[in-house]
Amino acid sequence: MAKDGQPGAVTRFAPSPTGLLHLGHAYSALFAQSLAGEGGRFLLRIEDIDPGRCRPEYEAAIYQDLEWLGLRWEAGVRRQSEHMDDYARALERLDGMGLVYPCFCTRAEIGAEIERSGAAPHGPDGPVYPGTCRGLPRAEAQARIAAGEAHALRLDMARAAAAAGPLAWHDRERGRMEARPEIFGDVVLARKDTPTGYHLAVTVDDRIQGITLVTRGEDLLPATHVHRLLQALLGLETPEYRHHRLLTDDEGRRLAKRHDSLSIRSLRERGRTAEEVRAMAGFGGT
Ligand code: GLU
Repeated sequence: MAKDGQPGAVTRFAPSPTGLLHLGHAYSALFAQSLAGEGGRFLLRIEDIDPGRCRPEYEAAIYQDLEWLGLRWEAGVRRQSEHMDDYARALERLDGMGLVYPCFCTRAEIGAEIERSGAAPHGPDGPVYPGTCRGLPRAEAQARIAAGEAHALRLDMARAAAAAGPLAWHDRERGRMEARPEIFGDVVLARKDTPTGYHLAVTVDDRIQGITLVTRGEDLLPATHVHRLLQALLGLETPEYRHHRLLTDDEGRRLAKRHDSLSIRSLRERGRTAEEVRAMAGFGGT
């Protein structure tokens, strides 16, 4: 039975293989599995769109560590790097709606532009992109692309939000949440180095995998505003959400990959049992 008494759901754990899993991941994975509940399904997804940071040895460690912890997921792990076509199709659809534009800015140029303007609003991911490339004439943008200039693809947020109209989602803990994707500004849909970005890939995957309840840390709650918008634009059903607390270390700092001593692997190597590690993550006796 799911902890909060809801019927079975389809949940997922979606780690990126950019380091060893730590106690915070153990908590997140166990949380997702527990909310699948009786009659539910628990799926695994490998978020490996970042070719520069993902490593096969970390992916292997994910399977090993989760299995050791006693987690069991359904066959058919979805690896994002194998599904670039799905993201490209979604991108094409948004482009067809006139909501996507190429952005040639480097990080340094964006920083300089923000400094010049003196008043860049801050979004959940830092300063909001000032929109430098939004108004580029189409012919100029096409010429630069044809010349091989590196570019990302951004969502024209104001137009996208206007096209979608008011949106909301249901969070199992927080209740009805009104979507305010505008706070992010023109988010990146496809990065310069890889043909998708986090927001697009996650939104498309959650639908393709049939996820009915997205569980993840509350650090990702702001991202749900963007995901809800993308769902509306792409005509995708909206799952329920549940954003959980983040585990912290003794000084109250949230666990991160720098906490090597709290990696599941190092706890195991120091002789902790799986049961002890589950208890450390707050899932004792389950
Ligand atoms: N891959 C993300 C992470 O490791 C999680 C994405 C999600 O759950 O939406 O933080």
